[in-house]
Amino acid sequence: MLKLIISVCICLTFSACGQQNKKMKTPSPKAMAGVNIPIDTNWTEKVVKSDAEWKKSLTEKQYYILRKHGTERPFSSELYEVKDEGIYICAGCKNPLFSSDAKFNSGTGWPSYFKPYSRKSLNVGTDNSLGMVRDALTCKRCDGHLGHVFNDGPEPTGLRYCIDGDGLLFVPKKSALAVATFAGGCFWCTETIFESIRGVSEVISGYSGGKENDPSYESVGSGRTSHAEAFQVYYDPKVITYQDLVRVFFASIDPTIVNGQGPDRGAQYRTIAFYTNDEEKTIITAKIAEIAKEYSKPIATQVVAFDKFYEAEEYHQDFVKRNPNQGYVKAESIPRRERTLAKVKDLVKSNPEK
Ligand SMILES: [Zn+2]
Repeated sequence: MLKLIISVCICLTFSACGQQNKKMKTPSPKAMAGVNIPIDTNWTEKVVKSDAEWKKSLTEKQYYILRKHGTERPFSSELYEVKDEGIYICAGCKNPLFSSDAKFNSGTGWPSYFKPYSRKSLNVGTDNSLGMVRDALTCKRCDGHLGHVFNDGPEPTGLRYCIDGDGLLFVPKKSALAVATFAGGCFWCTETIFESIRGVSEVISGYSGGKENDPSYESVGSGRTSHAEAFQVYYDPKVITYQDLVRVFFASIDPTIVNGQGPDRGAQYRTIAFYTNDEEKTIITAKIAEIAKEYSKPIATQVVAFDKFYEAEEYHQDFVKRNPNQGYVKAESIPRRERTLAKVKDLVKSNPEK
């Protein structure tokens, strides 16, 4: 049970500012964590770093809030007026802290919530600074300073978690976007291709098509599982159709190769178009019928009902972007991307990945 001390929030000092004039904002990419950050409440270990390590891993603003108990100027956080559905996580350790469902407009200039995301989100301590006694909030996982909690919030809790937005990142809800899943050989290559396609907001590399739980790069890559390297495309169906994604997929592969693509061989590199409904299945099979005429060998791409997708290890995400000079990336991934994009020029973002 929280012991709350009635106090005047310093936030209120600023509440007269003209927040009504401000329009609802969408967070900039800087304040967004990307949709591939897992919302993980199953962590068991705290995140502990030296001051020098924190300084290196955080932006100046994040470091000031989280590690120096700073307070941002009211109305200055990009997250203050964000109303999109999603989860607010700690910028220091990615611990999920608040859901958009619990956010409300307190008029104070600081992002405000009436309850934390889970029992593992926050610690409450006493803050005697500024000549008043307040309940200070820290992240339960990394002990980063986040803000204060007051007992003048709305129902159902009556609490107001007054948070410095610069200590948070926002993970937008995935379901606003549609998802398509494919396997097209090495996922480093396919990710960078699809991230260059307009209407695609995120591509996640992972494993699918097999039976084993929790596969790893090591187990899939060595051919010890029945999974294939696969990827999920988060796309806006108002901007690009599933049909066009299927077109990009077949432009990106040689669909006649059995168990392989490019220099990679093994069932883990087989090509698969996964469908989640009859409509998608019809689109895939129609495309295969269309392209079959272009090849002398039979089409080897499997058409499979989607079951489960396992995200690959973090270092495989955005691999080409992060490792543009890696040997395989230079020799295979980038030329394959350029070859594919040349075939689907009408679908490429005006400013694609380079
Ligand atoms: Zn944290």
